[in-house]
Amino acid sequence: MKIRTRYAPSPTGKMHVGNLRTALYEFLTAKHAGGDFMLRIEDTDQERFVEGAIEIINRTLEKTGLVHDEGPDKDGGYGPYVQSERVKTGIYMKYAKELVEKGEAYYCFCDKERLASLKTEVVEGKEICMYDKHCLGLSKEEVEANLAAGKPFVIRQNIPNEGTTTFVDELYGEITVDNAELDDMILIKSDGFPTYNFANVVDDHTMNITHVVRGNEYISSSPKYQRLYDAFGWQSPVYIHLPLITDENHKKLSKRSGHSSFEDLIDQGFVSEAIVNYIALLGWSPEDNREIFSLDELIKEFDYHRISKSPAVFDIVKLRWMNGEYIKAMEFDSFYEMAEPYLKQVLTKDFDLKKIANMVKTRIEVFPDIPALVDFFEELPEYDPEMYTHKKMKTNAETSLQVLKDMLPLLEAQEDYSNDGLYALLSKYVEEKGVKNGYVMWPIRTAVSGKQMTPAGATEIMEIIGKDETLKRIRKGIALLENA
Ligand code: GLU
Repeated sequence: MKIRTRYAPSPTGKMHVGNLRTALYEFLTAKHAGGDFMLRIEDTDQERFVEGAIEIINRTLEKTGLVHDEGPDKDGGYGPYVQSERVKTGIYMKYAKELVEKGEAYYCFCDKERLASLKTEVVEGKEICMYDKHCLGLSKEEVEANLAAGKPFVIRQNIPNEGTTTFVDELYGEITVDNAELDDMILIKSDGFPTYNFANVVDDHTMNITHVVRGNEYISSSPKYQRLYDAFGWQSPVYIHLPLITDENHKKLSKRSGHSSFEDLIDQGFVSEAIVNYIALLGWSPEDNREIFSLDELIKEFDYHRISKSPAVFDIVKLRWMNGEYIKAMEFDSFYEMAEPYLKQVLTKDFDLKKIANMVKTRIEVFPDIPALVDFFEELPEYDPEMYTHKKMKTNAETSLQVLKDMLPLLEAQEDYSNDGLYALLSKYVEEKGVKNGYVMWPIRTAVSGKQMTPAGATEIMEIIGKDETLKRIRKGIALLENA
């Protein structure tokens, strides 16, 4: 049997981390087994439809490499792949009527007022209103008359009050619930559209889906879906419900975290491959403790049996680390393309930007780290002369002043401002004085950068900023130390 999975997003806005994980696990479940991955757009809730959301879904799947084998743009013989188009084929109504025939569903004509008057119960903090099966009591003639009179209706699932329903989830095992807890949910709404609850069953079956991977918010409804499969005499797919994703405070990951969607993360300077790699580990882990995986490696390693039931914590610090690893491993040219705008934010003078990019490549975690690392090239920041004192280098204000004063005329006379030329000049001085390298390099680097940490050594910095600026900065250091 060929595995077929589907990613079935509702076009309601951004691509949240949880949505992307579902898509990724669906994709990996299929691809690991040489199966097909399908895209289906679930747009039956017209009120929640957001303009542009389908484009976001397509763009994200393309960018992350989760290429579908079938979907709205790629017919695989199971179309249409957009639920609003499927509605037009009459498929949902046809199957709903079949259930009515079988006594597994019924027409309901209750108006808003009557429904509002039904008793509500509070279960686990949520208000639940169970339909009281009022319209199940209507005779066939009454139903026909109502329909003929054009009375608005919905079609509801008919769930008995006695007995239990059991379904199987791959990770949670067998789950059994009392039927009395299950509401007679709406299958067809008054606008003629199916609810998600009905459409997902009809579509997964008619589109030959073998494995359904989705968030565990659907676990409580799955018994009702199971009853639908049973009523039709269809085999239900393998269910894999994924654990919750929480923020650092163990609360459901929400917009407030500021990094809950793929677009947010891209805007924050994360690279797509690192995001995918990190999200793969939100609920799944390989047998060893390996953490870095390309998409192809994930396809090879991903086994849905190893998905965990415990909530996964979205740890931005870990993602930053992982992103840094991806940046280190990037080809220089693609790195430069992404780094350039960040360099240009703070560097306007005639610098060798490629050289600077090369200095920061191994030192950043995300691209927006770049400006703060390199802005000193453009302009020497105000700095504290205390920075000249470094215990390990055995430097202090006095020794540093001496070094700067000694070096100034040498640097003035120096023609060759290449890194090598400058390094030779400084090394010669180090040798003559019989001191350690750092004893000279530290004060020079401090003077030319005004920073404690820089992405490059003293002579590399001088090469970038050039002779005039170097001399200016050395003189400034001397003045600062003399006044200190
Ligand atoms: N349209 C549903 C959603 O976006 C899909 C759930 C499912 O995968 O079955 O949450």
